[in-house]
Amino acid sequence: MPVKARTIVIDPGHSGENEGAFGVARIHEKYLTLQIALLLADRLRALMPDVEVVLTRYRDESLSLSERIEVANRLHADLFLSLHFNNSLNPDAIGFESFWAGDYWAADMVKAGVEITDEERVAREQAGMGAERMAYCFNRAMRHRFEVLDRGVKTGDYTVLTRARVPAVVLEMAFLSHASEGLSAVMPEYQSRLVQALSVAVVNYVRGM
Ligand SMILES: [Zn+2]
Repeated sequence: MPVKARTIVIDPGHSGENEGAFGVARIHEKYLTLQIALLLADRLRALMPDVEVVLTRYRDESLSLSERIEVANRLHADLFLSLHFNNSLNPDAIGFESFWAGDYWAADMVKAGVEITDEERVAREQAGMGAERMAYCFNRAMRHRFEVLDRGVKTGDYTVLTRARVPAVVLEMAFLSHASEGLSAVMPEYQSRLVQALSVAVVNYVRGM
């Protein structure tokens, strides 16, 4: 499929000592996000051979949040996807949700004492529009494949989002703390449906570029 996108960066959430959620399947989030990221990268390379798909990590190595988004900024990526699984003390919490930076980037710069130039504002607003669109592509693709709660598209004050100069989203794919969803997350059949939803979302996104 010929597309305008050149580079897509996939960030498998958590790593090293920051292991992420530990769910009912008794496996840490960091291993599952890497598994999904590797599968998604293969799928995207097959669907869009001209697009370079880069992971922020290919193994369980420590990586800070700013290092993750810097990979995408440095490459001027068309898209940055940070993959996560959710966790809750409420055992009934279920479903998927997505986040983009909204206006949080501006507060982050003010806090850091950095002046916001017009150029910066234009770049950030453009990236934000892409990010929000990608978030909706994800939620829609997930709704079509999973009969669980769509928790919505939200804005989040997350470093991987507020430091992004490219369209960046955090995707919370399912709750590892939920009795059935958390067990499904380790099943190959479920994972391949997840990868299908993610790849359809990305393809829809790049088609609209
Ligand atoms: Zn996470």
